[in-house]
Amino acid sequence: HASPSFSAPSKPIIPPPLVSRLFPSSNLREGQVEAGELTCRSQRLMLQTGLIHPSNPGCFHYLPVSLRSMEKLIRLIDEEMHGISGQKIDMPVLCSAELWKKSGRWDLMGTDMFRLLDRHCGDYCLGPTHEEAVTQLFASQGTVSYKKLPLLLYQITRKFRDEQKPKFGLLRGREFYMKDMYSFDINEEAALQTYQSVCQAYGRILDRLGLKWVKVQADTGNIGGSLSHEFQLPADIGEDRLVMCGNCGFSANVETIEPEQAQCSKCQVGTLTESKGIEVGHTFYLGTKYSHPFKAQFMNASNELEITKMGCFGLGVTRILAASIEVMSFDEAIRWPGLIAPYQVCILPPKTGSKAHEGIQLAEKLAFSLGNSMSNMKGEVILDDRTQMTIGKRLKDANILGYPYVVVVGKKALEDQPIFEVVCQQRGETVFLSEEGLVDLL
Ligand code: ATP
Ligand code: MG
Ligand code: MG
Ligand code: MG
Repeated sequence: HASPSFSAPSKPIIPPPLVSRLFPSSNLREGQVEAGELTCRSQRLMLQTGLIHPSNPGCFHYLPVSLRSMEKLIRLIDEEMHGISGQKIDMPVLCSAELWKKSGRWDLMGTDMFRLLDRHCGDYCLGPTHEEAVTQLFASQGTVSYKKLPLLLYQITRKFRDEQKPKFGLLRGREFYMKDMYSFDINEEAALQTYQSVCQAYGRILDRLGLKWVKVQADTGNIGGSLSHEFQLPADIGEDRLVMCGNCGFSANVETIEPEQAQCSKCQVGTLTESKGIEVGHTFYLGTKYSHPFKAQFMNASNELEITKMGCFGLGVTRILAASIEVMSFDEAIRWPGLIAPYQVCILPPKTGSKAHEGIQLAEKLAFSLGNSMSNMKGEVILDDRTQMTIGKRLKDANILGYPYVVVVGKKALEDQPIFEVVCQQRGETVFLSEEGLVDLL
């Protein structure tokens, strides 16, 4: 009799997504920025191309294309956080006022905090940051051994802040995504080592995105603590003023120095020059600011309870998404950090016409095989099937959306030795390649 066969379950074959079916439907929208509204390049481009849609002030719908990008960014951040032994958690957004009263920030946060009442008239807020919640969580675990430290907990969740002036789209929202990490260490020395390793991970994230950044001395604001740095992307629309020393490289947010100050306080020689930046990350050494009131303790090597030394580390996920578009794009066309481009490849079949049939079929086949291959283009290929439009018009759209590679299936693709025109949008060059060459390139 026949023996049972154990064949591996087959992987699903994924048809390439079609530009004609993308939500929202038409690619380029006009007039989504209110007349007179202060706007910026990333906001305009993201609205125009249907990456985001405004909901109420400072809140946006993230639509399919931008969500792909954001998920890639989150994967990149997760990778770097796991690389420094971070453990991912997800804390409630709804936070009881009790916690905030304990740290003294219920009053300090003022009108920046979204506050609400539950049915029993208990005070709550929508979390703008989570130092209180995470320290309480740590303290609730009973006695933690020193052997378990450092402990690095992080989350990537929505934060709520009733900003006085939400503006520039995702750059300053009232509801936005932040990656916030909290560290627990046995003493200051260990905590400062953890601080350095998180800063290095932040640097790697921004490097891998291909962004120019500076780390500057920063103010600790209402988060508190004694040591703080910001990660800033130099940009004219940035809202932070930064100074840099031409001699020793010292750099700071002007909030931390005398503004009138023209000479570097570190080397006493160099002069400070001013520029603007977009704050994308912020790191704090907190000491016992939260661990003390919440009694976040650990058992040391001599079996005594000690208060843990903490750090906290914020990274603006939606802000990085918008800021990288802001600094990398042209006024009329998006350019993405390669790693987080929503789709890597867009394939353009010829315009419908008497001789087009073969070309359209070839383009579909190519999109299908590239998008399902074992290469790193798996799931990264989109087909611009709007074949009633000329290739020129679709190329223009592809340029605005900024796919790193656009593959044109033109007349030369139908010859005996098929040649594809490949527009490499990141490098601004066009190359002509055989199918093999194309696969090699991608
Ligand atoms: P800003 O000075 O721009 O108001 P912040 O100093 O208040 O920012 P932090 O409390 O340091 O922000 O939060 C950590 C990170 O969260 C910031 O570095 C930034 O990347 C991001 N972030 C803060 N506020 C917003 C916002 N309103 N919209 C989008 N991202 C934000
Ligand atoms: Mg702020
Ligand atoms: Mg700031
Ligand atoms: Mg900050």
